[in-house]
Amino acid sequence: MAYDDENVFAKILRGEIPCAKVYEDDHAFAFNDINPQAPVHVLVIPKGPYTSMDDFAANAKDAEITGFFRAVGAVAKQLKLDKPGYRILANHGSDGMQEVPHFHVHIFGGKLLGPMLRRGD
Ligand code: 5GP
Repeated sequence: MAYDDENVFAKILRGEIPCAKVYEDDHAFAFNDINPQAPVHVLVIPKGPYTSMDDFAANAKDAEITGFFRAVGAVAKQLKLDKPGYRILANHGSDGMQEVPHFHVHIFGGKLLGPMLRRGD
C-alpha cells in the first residue's frame, strides 16, 4: 500500500491538525489519542512515511527503528508508567483493524488493563 500524505497523522506531523503533544525527538512524535481507551492512551508515531508496522519493519533505516522504539520507552517513562506498567499495541491491516495508515504504537496505562484480548471471540 502506498503511503497517503493526506492521512490524519501526516497532517498532525505537519501541524495542519491540532493535537495534545506529549513528546518529540528526531525520529518520533507522541500525542494523546482523541478517543482514549484507558486513563492514559498515547500514540507514538515515526516521523518517516511508513504505512504500518509491516512497512516500518521492512523499510525503515536501522537508526529510525532504534530511535522510534527508544522513544516509545522514553514516552512511557515520561508518563511514569514504567513502574506500575503499561501495554503497547500496533494494529496492522484489516484483521488488525488498523484505521490510520501511518505506523503508530498505542501506549495504554493508568489502570489495571485486564486480559490482552477480549476472550471468547
Ligand atoms: P488504529 O485503529 O489505526 O490502530 O488507531 C488509530 C487511533 O487514532 C484511534 O485510537 C483513534 O482514536 C486515533 N485518532 C484518529 N484520528 C485522530 C485524530 O485526529 N487525533 C488524535 N489525537 N487521534 C486520532
